[in-house]
Amino acid sequence: MTANETDADISENFPLFGKLQDYEHEQIVVCSEPSLGLKAIIAVHDTTLGPALGGVRMWPYNNEQEAIRDVLRLSRGMTYKAAISGLNLGGGKAVIIGDPRKEKNESLFRAFGRYVDSLGGRYITAEDVGINVQNMEWVRMETKYVSGLPKSIGGSGDPSPVTAYGVYQGMKASAKKAYGSDSLEGKRIAIQGAGHVSSHLAKFLSKEDAELFICDIYEDKVNAVAEETGAKVVDPDEIYGLDVDIFSPCALGGVVNDDTMDQFKCDIIAGAANNVLDNEDKHGRMLLDNDILYAPDYVINAGGLINVASELEGYNEERAHKQASKIYDTILDILNYSEDNNTPTFVASNILAEKRIANVGQIHNIYTSDSKFSGHIGELYKNNV
Ligand code: NAD
Repeated sequence: MTANETDADISENFPLFGKLQDYEHEQIVVCSEPSLGLKAIIAVHDTTLGPALGGVRMWPYNNEQEAIRDVLRLSRGMTYKAAISGLNLGGGKAVIIGDPRKEKNESLFRAFGRYVDSLGGRYITAEDVGINVQNMEWVRMETKYVSGLPKSIGGSGDPSPVTAYGVYQGMKASAKKAYGSDSLEGKRIAIQGAGHVSSHLAKFLSKEDAELFICDIYEDKVNAVAEETGAKVVDPDEIYGLDVDIFSPCALGGVVNDDTMDQFKCDIIAGAANNVLDNEDKHGRMLLDNDILYAPDYVINAGGLINVASELEGYNEERAHKQASKIYDTILDILNYSEDNNTPTFVASNILAEKRIANVGQIHNIYTSDSKFSGHIGELYKNNV
């Protein structure tokens, strides 16, 4: 603070505590090691349910505020995702400010690892945008609080197959709600994107004899999936307006927007992509009013998080799949709540997630011999106070 600056000036110019309170964060940690070029921020949103798990993203943010906004928003999202998925994990995320193509090196990631370690397990990191396996191996040299490592070094490996399985289960639950049966046999399904998740998803769907349509901006990718699953290849611009039962966004965010809304002829939108609704309030409400069931993205695509979380207990693929199959019941609960309360599905999902956090939080009020208070009581008792 300069001599003439007041507390009010500072909070007005850099309203950090205001932001933390708006998003209800517990803690943010600013990590700086100028000699190594490290500028990172770790955000711990809520640890009611357990340690805050969430990936670290490396991105050339234009300014610090942009990085702070991103880490706050993403870490909060992780709290909701873990809570609704029944995991005993809180929400956290980290960002490293820098260009992932030019500014990566061993020391930078090891330094980041030491900051993660200093939190003693309150935050567990993993891979996110701009980060690769080698970077995580460097982080792992400095802390055990890392997950989502490759199978070759004892981790859970690529999460896409489990993510796809969860999306498949969520899609079946949505069909159950819309049609009274969860069979996808003969259902016409349009998949946007022929990448990691959708290539696995298309296999589940083709085994159930669904009629598939698929697109991608890369011809070789879409042809490979089509060849394996019998899906019909369509043009990326055609995908929204196809006469199908289910639209499955598995490529980009923001695809339910003002331009696409009137094109949809489907009954259900259920896919792996994050941030599918361009504007949650507006487009979530429009889908409800248009009688299109929307399986909220962070619920239906939680298989990836479930896979990473499973690694914390010693990875077991079968257990991860079993846990991802619960996405079926969670999606049905959300769709039922949405119908009963005439509320968009993403609002229903947020309400149910918050309810779980509040209820589990209450449990901590029950005294057990492990309660932190017990030592103190013991001391009092010993001293006959
Ligand atoms: P990916 O990059 O392997 O696949 C995405 C595919 O979409 C690519 O083949 C790309 O060419 C294609 N694509 C891009 N723009 C397109 C367009 N305009 N039209 C059609 N296709 C387009 O990614 P992924 O790992 O399969 O993930 C898919 C989505 O699911 C992403 O939004 C991701 O954030 C989300 N997600 C993935 C996981 C996971 O486990 N991989 C977990 C949770 C959420």
